[in-house]
Amino acid sequence: MVMTPAGSLRPSPPDKFTPDEEAQLVAACPGAVAEARVEDGCSFDPVWGAYRSMARAWAAHPDVRYRGATGGVLTALGMHALRTGRVAFVLHVGADPEQPMRSRWIISESEASVKANTASRYGPTAPLAGLAAALDRGQPFGIIAKPCDLTAVHLLSRNDPRIDELCVVRLVLVCGGQSRLTKSQAVLEEFGIDEDDVALFRYRGHGNPGPTVVETRAGERFSKPYLEMWADEAGWQVETRCKFCPDALGEAADVASADIWPGGAPTGEDEGFNGIIVRTELGEQLVASAVKAGDLVVTDEITPRQFDDFQPHQVRKKEALAARYQGLADAGVAPIETRGLRIEELGRRLDPERFEHERSGARRRAERLQAMITPARPARTGTRSGRSTGG
Ligand SMILES: Cc1cc2nc3c(=O)[nH]c(=O)nc-3n(C[C@H](O)[C@H](O)[C@H](O)COP(=O)(O)OP(=O)(O)OC[C@H]3O[C@@H](n4cnc5c(N)ncnc54)[C@H](O)[C@@H]3O)c2cc1C
Repeated sequence: MVMTPAGSLRPSPPDKFTPDEEAQLVAACPGAVAEARVEDGCSFDPVWGAYRSMARAWAAHPDVRYRGATGGVLTALGMHALRTGRVAFVLHVGADPEQPMRSRWIISESEASVKANTASRYGPTAPLAGLAAALDRGQPFGIIAKPCDLTAVHLLSRNDPRIDELCVVRLVLVCGGQSRLTKSQAVLEEFGIDEDDVALFRYRGHGNPGPTVVETRAGERFSKPYLEMWADEAGWQVETRCKFCPDALGEAADVASADIWPGGAPTGEDEGFNGIIVRTELGEQLVASAVKAGDLVVTDEITPRQFDDFQPHQVRKKEALAARYQGLADAGVAPIETRGLRIEELGRRLDPERFEHERSGARRRAERLQAMITPARPARTGTRSGRSTGG
């Protein structure tokens, strides 16, 4: 995976795959397809998908809770899975020690390493660039990643039996979209820092949500409150694919972990409270085991409608996707193929005016983008075989 000038991580070189490799990649690429992984015996909600339980939770160890993005749940579960021998290592991401503004995949074999690579990394990440190395070890492992990564792992399991055999714990953060690196570069520009001088770039954590903090090799320290960092949505520089994401809620994971600020935004700093969505029997066992061992605190139940209030942007997006996909099809761009993610059903909640607004907006943007990429390309209509939304 290489960083493009636009600040996105992309496979390189893209034209060197064999036809077989390409077919396997496209069958699992979240830019082309997304699928829920559903077990029997779950409760079910049209927005939040299949779940066994939803509850308020946080890491029991104060330091894990403090350093984590929200309440440190994913870190606590990763550490617990390691300590109890359920997994031999955890594949996840963290700051690149050479270029701390950027992120790289990491295999954590110790609890200390899971903890050192805690909290949200808001720029581009590619944890699955480490999947082959993880599988080649032939040991059971856990993965902590974005929903799109976990969808890809799930779909890849159809072609690679090692995945279900070895990738035995799948943890996910609920995701509003990945920013391009240009978002982080804008922070450095604002502070007047050269990337070569950056010694630490912490996007979040050390409190909930915690500020974005940059430290230089010369010992200077700059920080920006979370609400300032994410004040203007137009400046988030989110990847195109994320605006069409049908599975931001992690429906291929064992456990998904989210923020639970009423109304969807923090009003200040707090000790860190996650909402967890436990989706599988394995997730249920892991959470129960972590609670019993004193690694995790789980308190009151959260209902799907409470989650709607905590994540209004996710509900809006999920309802808008059918219209956005129609707009893409109008422009001759293949929308993401979705399986078990209820996009059509939720799209029917939109009144005709909003549906048309979303549809025409997506069509306009797709046509503009296509004109930039292939100026002479005529638009096709109503097809799933055109250019995809990209990964
Ligand atoms: C791009 C992005 C968008 C998000 N949008 C939302 C949202 O809309 N709603 C919401 O509720 N929460 C969102 N979050 C998640 C939120 O910031 C917390 O990560 C989540 O609540 C889990 O908190 P935690 O304390 O349990 O995680 P922690 O215990 O801090 O663990 C985080 C784990 O996730 C891994 N990780 C961090 N960043 C990435 C990444 N970019 N890609 C892959 N793995 C990563 C780390 O390696 C670590 O293991 C987003 C996070 C990211 C990175």
